[in-house]
Amino acid sequence: MNFYDSSKVESLFEQKGITKADVPEEADVILVNTCSVRDHAEERAWGTVGNIKQLKHRNPNLKIGVIGCMAERLGTDILKRASYVDFIIGPNQIENIISILDREEKGSVVLIGDSLQPYPQIPSKKTGTVIAYIAAMKGCNCHCAYCIVPYTRGKEESRPIADILEEVQQVLEESPKEIHLLGQNITNYGKDLGMQNGFIRLLEAVHNVDKVIRLKYITPHPKDFTFKIIYALKQLPKVPEHFHLPVQSGDDEVLRTMNRRYTTSEYLMLIEEIRKHFPDSGISTDVIIGFPSETKQLFSNTVEFFKKIEFDNAYMTTYSPRPGTPSSKIYNDVVSPEEKKERHRILSAVQEEISHRLNQKYLGKTLELLVEEYSPKHTAFSGRSRTNKIVSFKSSNPEIIGKLVNIKIREAGSWVLKGDEIR
Ligand code: SF4
Repeated sequence: MNFYDSSKVESLFEQKGITKADVPEEADVILVNTCSVRDHAEERAWGTVGNIKQLKHRNPNLKIGVIGCMAERLGTDILKRASYVDFIIGPNQIENIISILDREEKGSVVLIGDSLQPYPQIPSKKTGTVIAYIAAMKGCNCHCAYCIVPYTRGKEESRPIADILEEVQQVLEESPKEIHLLGQNITNYGKDLGMQNGFIRLLEAVHNVDKVIRLKYITPHPKDFTFKIIYALKQLPKVPEHFHLPVQSGDDEVLRTMNRRYTTSEYLMLIEEIRKHFPDSGISTDVIIGFPSETKQLFSNTVEFFKKIEFDNAYMTTYSPRPGTPSSKIYNDVVSPEEKKERHRILSAVQEEISHRLNQKYLGKTLELLVEEYSPKHTAFSGRSRTNKIVSFKSSNPEIIGKLVNIKIREAGSWVLKGDEIR
C-alpha cells in the first residue's frame, strides 16, 4: 500500500511539473513515506529523517515531509523529535500534498485524519513495469490485537468497482500487466457498500479486462476466505493458484488473544478445501513470533502446525508492541528479544526444510512464468510461476520482460528455482 501511495504522490508531482532529483543533495523536497507496522520500521524512518536534516544546512529552502502511517500515528509529536520537518501528512490526506508545498506561510503543517474524498482521482504514474498495484479498499475493521493499521488507516472503505476498473484501464494503456488489488482485508471488499459477495464480484470484473495478464489480491483474511471464494476462483484462470493466508500463530490460545477470530482447525479446513480444488497450488503465510501470550509450549504448537500444513513459504516477524493497540495495553512484552530470536531461528529452520523439500517436486516440470525483470548481476531473467515461485532463467531476448514463457525446472533451492526456456 505504501508503494501505491508513493506512486500516487509521484504522479501528483509530475502533474505539477516537479521532476525527480538524481541525488538527495539536489532535491528541494524530500519525502519519507513511513510504515508503523513494527517498531523497527519506525526506527528506520527516524534514521532516514535524521540523516536528511543536515541537507537543510546546505539548502535552507529544502522542505522535508513525513508521510504515511507514522505521520498519522504520531502527528505533531514528530515535531518534538524533529522540529525541522516541514509537513506531516497521513495516508488519507496525500492528495493535499501539492497545496501544502505551495503554501507561503512559514511553520510546519500537520494534516492527518480522514479526507472528505476517500479515493481522489489521481492518475496513475507510468511505471514501465509488469506489475501494477491498485487500491481496492482502504482501512480495516478487524482490530487484531497487535495491529496498528485500523488506527493509522481507519475504517474499511471500499472503492466502487467502476472507479477501480477505470484505474485498471489507465495502467494498462502503457502495456498489458499483472494487476495486484490491494486492501488490508481484501476479502471484506464491498461489505461497507452493501454488496453481496463483493470480493468475488470485484475479481470477476477485473478478470474481464482484456490486457490483464494475471490478477492477484493482497491481503485476504482467513476468517473471511469462504469456500464460495475458492469455487469462484476456479472460474477465473487469470488468478494464479497461489494463496497467501496469514495464519499469525498455530496455537488456538494465541489466536484468541490476537483476536484473529478463527481456530487452527478452521484454518486447516480452509487449506484442505483449497488443496482439494487446487491440488498444485502454492500456499504461503505470515506469522508473528513471541506474541505476549505465546509460552514455549504454545510456540511449539505453532511449529507442529507448520509441519502439518507444509506452507510453501512463510514471512516471519517477531512481535513488537505498537502503542495504542489492544495487545500493547493489556500485556507486557514478556517474551525476551533473545527468546524471540531463538524461536524465529527454530521456525525458520523448520520452514526452510519444508520449502526446500516441496520445491523438489518441480524438478523436470514446466512452469508458466510471467517474466518480471533482468538481473545484470546474475545475467538472468526472473519471474514468478502461477504458484508464486521465483524462477530464474537465461535468455538472449531482451523483449521477454512482461511475457508469459514456459520454463523447464532443472534446479530447486528453498527460495529460487532455475530452469530453461521451452519454445
Ligand atoms: S486484518 Fe490485517 S490489517 Fe486488519 S487488523 Fe488484522 S492484521 Fe491488521
